[in-house]
Amino acid sequence: MVIDVNRTVAYRCPGCGDVRMLEVTPFNTMPSSAFYCSCGEECMTLDKQKDTVSVNSGCILCDGKHNWKIKSKSLWQGKSYILRCRYSGIALIFIGDEKSVKDQIKESNEMVEKIFDNE
Ligand SMILES: [Zn+2]
Ligand SMILES: [Zn+2]
Repeated sequence: MVIDVNRTVAYRCPGCGDVRMLEVTPFNTMPSSAFYCSCGEECMTLDKQKDTVSVNSGCILCDGKHNWKIKSKSLWQGKSYILRCRYSGIALIFIGDEKSVKDQIKESNEMVEKIFDNE
């Protein structure tokens, strides 16, 4: 099966809150990769398993680690994902086409700003 869809993945740094974007293909996430922020913090790891991609990320809000599993097949078929902190609902990882990822980041940044303003 030939799949040539590239996906944009964005992740929020658990240290400084910056959102970084990258392009992934079915090939450059193999077998597992770690992604860092310019502040040096490790943000996200992708671990490709047989049928699933395991996504791990630290969290800017609850200081915990979150893990999500997504089906590789639906990922490369063009499904979009927003992976959220299970406690605060803040989106930490965005996967989709570039435009929708950018829209989601904008929305999420406003949410994060509100949360930090209230503290
Ligand atoms: Zn950072
Ligand atoms: Zn969290």
